[in-house]
Amino acid sequence: MQPVEIENYLLGLLPGLGINKTRELSRLLYEIAKRDSLPLTQILPQEEKWNFEKAKTHLLKKRYPVNFKTAARNRFYLPKLELDPALRADLTPRPFYPKTVYIEESVQNTPLAARVREMFPRAEFKLTDGKTQVGSANFSHRTETLLIHREKYDFLKPCPCSCSAAGCGYNLINLGFGCRFECEYCFLQQYQNLHAVLLPANVEEFLQKIDTASFHQGPFDRPRIGSGEFTDSLVFDHITQYSSQIVPFFKARPHLQFEFKTKSTNIEGLLKEGGAENIVVAWSVNAAPVIEQAEHFTPSLQERLAASARVVQAGYRTAFHFDPVIIYDGWQEDYAQTAQALAQAVPADKVAWISVGTLRFSRELKKMMETRFPEGKLLDGEFLLDFDGKMRYGDAQRLEVYRYLVPLLKKLFPKTVVYLCMEDPQVVKAVYQNL
Ligand code: SF4
Repeated sequence: MQPVEIENYLLGLLPGLGINKTRELSRLLYEIAKRDSLPLTQILPQEEKWNFEKAKTHLLKKRYPVNFKTAARNRFYLPKLELDPALRADLTPRPFYPKTVYIEESVQNTPLAARVREMFPRAEFKLTDGKTQVGSANFSHRTETLLIHREKYDFLKPCPCSCSAAGCGYNLINLGFGCRFECEYCFLQQYQNLHAVLLPANVEEFLQKIDTASFHQGPFDRPRIGSGEFTDSLVFDHITQYSSQIVPFFKARPHLQFEFKTKSTNIEGLLKEGGAENIVVAWSVNAAPVIEQAEHFTPSLQERLAASARVVQAGYRTAFHFDPVIIYDGWQEDYAQTAQALAQAVPADKVAWISVGTLRFSRELKKMMETRFPEGKLLDGEFLLDFDGKMRYGDAQRLEVYRYLVPLLKKLFPKTVVYLCMEDPQVVKAVYQNL
């Protein structure tokens, strides 16, 4: 349904409605009609007499049945409805094959540049001075452009987590930007103006910084360093071969631990290197219906777990991230099945940590998600503006998720650290105080 249809319907019911009031009611009508597959006439019947306040209260009650009574009105976010069909995600399956490859002059003679030339002979290759910005304005076209560059500044940093959230002491190296998977909730969709895949050719410079850095440790036995903030850690590993540098580096530093975070099954490089207990290969996991409907192009849960079992056999430890947990009818059973599947796939003592986090997103990302995936179901839940300006399920719903999943996971993996990701410290306290 297009915004103009909704606005016309509203103006028929409430002639002379101002711009802001039309925006709020249109937004509510759209979200209810989409979630419940109902015509507008059944949501706001023409036979009844409406004024703005009555219509808004009626719609808020319908849109937020769980939170309407308890949440402050300013926590319902009702932005203008803008659905640009040109920005819809392209979900046609295709291999990663960039049309244009930019190589910065300073790294043109590196092994990575040579490998890329060999792997993508049909691409157009261009040298760049590193100052020109490359990429498309449309996120869906990001994989058409590949940039091989020298990272100069952004080597190592504490995880930014979320403002006022309870941090876990994670440390990040940003090995790459961009991903070829299409998760409907991916924050990269709204993070950059120009979209491309960026791969640094100077990994050794990232690693050099580690020996002189001081690290946060959080609740873990050693500092944790990971890649995978702005990309999937392994999705391009057959191209980058970063694992062939990272694994030997950390094998020689058992006082640290490194985490590859992935949804891929791209583990051949890791298997070739052979593992060590301080190198952890972590998979993001989810309920099977969420993977199928919202994590486009990614391997299934079974494929991820089979890869996890193989890296464990090769000497690595593994980890899992239940992130983002989605609430829908029957979520408990589906997530319990995922938890059981993990326990069957790998020995519990090889699971270094498990995180749990419910879906959260910025306001800008909400608009991007609904524009790129207009049929997506993720946003049908009840999301409220929260303590850090992000949108989340209400506290009671999040507590329900954590109070269900954390004990379940602790039972299956008694020695594993199970922690919450990007959560309100009050919520973390309420979950753990009764465990
Ligand atoms: S795997 Fe991660 S980086 Fe890639 S699309 Fe999904 S959420 Fe984004």
